[in-house]
Amino acid sequence: MTSQPARNTTTWWREADRRHHLHPFTDAKELAEAGGSRIITKAEGVWLEDSEGNRMLDGMAGLWCVNVGYGHKELAEAAYNQMLELPYYNTFFKTSTPPPIELAEKLAELTPEGLNHAFYATSGSEANDTIARLVRRYWAIKGQPEKRCFISRDNAYHGSTMAAASLGGMKAMHELDGLPLPGFEHVMQPYWYKEGGDLSPEDFGLKAARAVEEKILELGADTVAAFIGEPIQGAGGVIVPPASYWPEIQRICGKYDVLLVADEVICGFGRTGHWFGSQCLDIKPDLMPMAKGITSGYLPLSAVMVGDEIADTLYGAGAEFSHGFTYSGHPVSCAVALANIALMEREGLVEKVHEETGPYLQARLRELASHPLVGEVRGVGLIAGIELVEDKSTRRSYAAETAVGVRCRENCVRNLVISRAVGDSMVLSPPLIISKAEIDELVSRLQKSLDDTAREIGAL
Ligand SMILES: *Cc1c(COP(=O)(O)O)cnc(C)c1O
Repeated sequence: MTSQPARNTTTWWREADRRHHLHPFTDAKELAEAGGSRIITKAEGVWLEDSEGNRMLDGMAGLWCVNVGYGHKELAEAAYNQMLELPYYNTFFKTSTPPPIELAEKLAELTPEGLNHAFYATSGSEANDTIARLVRRYWAIKGQPEKRCFISRDNAYHGSTMAAASLGGMKAMHELDGLPLPGFEHVMQPYWYKEGGDLSPEDFGLKAARAVEEKILELGADTVAAFIGEPIQGAGGVIVPPASYWPEIQRICGKYDVLLVADEVICGFGRTGHWFGSQCLDIKPDLMPMAKGITSGYLPLSAVMVGDEIADTLYGAGAEFSHGFTYSGHPVSCAVALANIALMEREGLVEKVHEETGPYLQARLRELASHPLVGEVRGVGLIAGIELVEDKSTRRSYAAETAVGVRCRENCVRNLVISRAVGDSMVLSPPLIISKAEIDELVSRLQKSLDDTAREIGAL
């Protein structure tokens, strides 16, 4: 007789997880070889705890989203109180509820000038799907229905639905089912370290921006609806574009009457030391999708902030905008977002990242630049990428078989710090409440993981 593991133990959870739970972006064979999932059971501040009692420093804020950190009672209370008052009502049929109204007003105040209208959904992907539909509708109302094409970048991440993955430039995602859909085009990314060759970062930034102009001219400006980009690419490896890039993109979009969409799903809500990445990099977008940090991940919510002229056109057309979700403007998620923003304001978190912890993390990480594996340290505020290379002078990567990023990630887990590997870049985006002492702990665990990795592959 085989003995069953007791319920609600690590062994039981792993086994039931393996049998019944299909994980996103996961190779089941690899997961099984690793002995199954790590089961996270609780968290407080920047610290995760797993079912074995290990305490890990969460250098990723979950998936780039738990901006205020774990364990805030006031967010839980906001959800609880709203559920008792009114757990759900829709925003479709000439009705509204107070939380989405109050949140829309707040978002209009926090976002750049001119973005005064919020359309809600529940994920970043849905926000970007909304943008695809909304932008095409906008140009159709303006009498230019052929202006339908979106331009994005290779290695961009905009989500995982059909339209969001088409907007994105992730090859593996496209290969899954023959994306992108028609009308979604991609140009080179502004990734100087990997693709800049002999050009200076400034010249390369201009070159990457002008790839957008060339694409517009190739397709015909009268067919191009919008350009979309993350102010700083997150899931692609924390790629900070050269300073010349965004001003040139802004000029090109203006010249050809192409809408500019800044995907703020990661950069938004304080990550860069500004409320939005667009403010950090001086971008003036026409549309701004946001999610993740809007509720610090405590509940699902996203919004698209829409510019005045676009909103007036869409909603002044004398016809319905036939798009929306059951949970557009969900009152409980919106109440949590309001509590999350109130907490950020009260604690001065954005200022703290801007003045204190952001510069501190960036300076401490740049000390790692002399490590034998580290080719480049990049980032701003509390988002960073550390690119591991075999040859620093030529910026040459390790062979794929070396899997230096994966090794380093596994060493990070062993050393009880969470950092993700994107190819050979280690990425970090800790909760914004991280203290300087915790940053020291994060950097020292990361350094140990780099040393362990270098030893494994004979580079130390
Ligand atoms: C995570 C992410 C998305 C998708 O958000 P989901 O909530 O996972 O659908 C879109 N854009 C960017 C920049 C992201 O990082």
